[in-house]
Amino acid sequence: MGKVLMIGAGGVATVAAFKIAQNTDVFTDFMIASRRKEKCDQIVEAIHKKGYTMPIKTAQVDADDVEQLKALFNDYQPELVINLALPYQDLTIMEACLACGCNYLDTANYEPKDEAHFEYSWQWAYKERFEQAGLCAILGCGFDPGVSGIYTAYAAKHHFNEMTQLDIVDCNAGNHHKAFATNFNPEINIREITQKGLYYENGEWKETDPLSVHKALTYPNIGPRESYLMHHEELESLVKNYPSIKLARFWMTFGQQYLNYLDVIQNIGMSRIDEIEYEAPLADGTGTAKVKIVPLQFLKAVLPNPQDLGENYEGETSIGCRIKGTKDGKQRTYYVYNNCSHQAAYEETGMQGVSYTTGVPAMIGAMMFLKGIWKKPGVWNVEEFDPDPFMEQLNTQGLPWHEVFDGDLEL
Ligand code: NDP
Repeated sequence: MGKVLMIGAGGVATVAAFKIAQNTDVFTDFMIASRRKEKCDQIVEAIHKKGYTMPIKTAQVDADDVEQLKALFNDYQPELVINLALPYQDLTIMEACLACGCNYLDTANYEPKDEAHFEYSWQWAYKERFEQAGLCAILGCGFDPGVSGIYTAYAAKHHFNEMTQLDIVDCNAGNHHKAFATNFNPEINIREITQKGLYYENGEWKETDPLSVHKALTYPNIGPRESYLMHHEELESLVKNYPSIKLARFWMTFGQQYLNYLDVIQNIGMSRIDEIEYEAPLADGTGTAKVKIVPLQFLKAVLPNPQDLGENYEGETSIGCRIKGTKDGKQRTYYVYNNCSHQAAYEETGMQGVSYTTGVPAMIGAMMFLKGIWKKPGVWNVEEFDPDPFMEQLNTQGLPWHEVFDGDLEL
């Protein structure tokens, strides 16, 4: 039996739902719950329209509210809760899982709403409580974090005696034909990109000004793209789990037009995450009233919805790990990556490649748990499990990977 409850009904959740409906030998019972039930119903309709017949239940829930979550979990009694809402809801969902005896999986680490800051400490603090309850929590099971950690674990297991340098390289060479749009939730995305950069060198974390360190890196089937050093959450767990790594960095590509827009957004104050007062017209037209709004949340409301980008999205994403180290006394480099076509993702699920590359690993992580392969009490990052069965599934579930040995890593 594999009974799962997924929370969230955005782009990533849509892809994960499609993939769950394609794997009914593992997933036997499935419910989608989100802030708006109609969005869950739309996903079910899209899945059934494509000919997948799995019965799927839907429900409304505010995942900021632990009591609402507990009522839903007690009623549906899932074995595993897949959190594909926003990073703000990680802790409330983990609390409700502990209260109701459910296991947990997510794709992004906790972030407080009023502070653009992410780190694992808040979720790692739950380790003992999950252990004592005999429950398993799997953290960060998207692509990056997620597959990036699994690639690293696979490299450590099969190709290195010691890894000394890890560079995670994330390129989106797609074109959605919009002047400016983000590929996943705009609020979360802009908070992440406008933060200071952070990398790990010789046991120390080093900070850089936002997007100030960059270089052109060459991506397979794409060519050179300017790549920017950023802080990314998986570096924190990977340097802890692989202490031989001396240098760990994360690079992401951005086009010049995207950066120009981002600059303007920041300079005019639209990326602010604190509340401001706004004089809003009353619904009955009789005047105005002061309301509080968060500029970045307002911006999200007027930007294109990442879920609607798929139809005209061309090109590919290319995400991978470039690793240096030694094997059998010799220096070695290793590059493992996946390229994902936005159009192919859209044809299969109605969503673009960034949602696809996140939703597929979330489903595979859930599958690993339900098959009992990734199942141990506690709170875990993905690299702490056996990577091999996950790597096998990546090849069959739409995200095949490729390897280059002893090439020039450019880094
Ligand atoms: P979306 O904004 O499209 O989807 C989020 C969903 O959560 C929406 O359906 C939203 O409801 C719902 N939601 C938000 N707040 C609540 C709440 N309080 N209660 C219940 N439901 C709520 O985001 P994405 O699908 O793009 O991203 C989903 C997650 O995946 C995010 O955490 C993101 O950070 C992560 N991610 C991870 C990546 C990785 O590689 N690891 C890459 C990309 C994303 P509504 O529809 O009503 O707004």
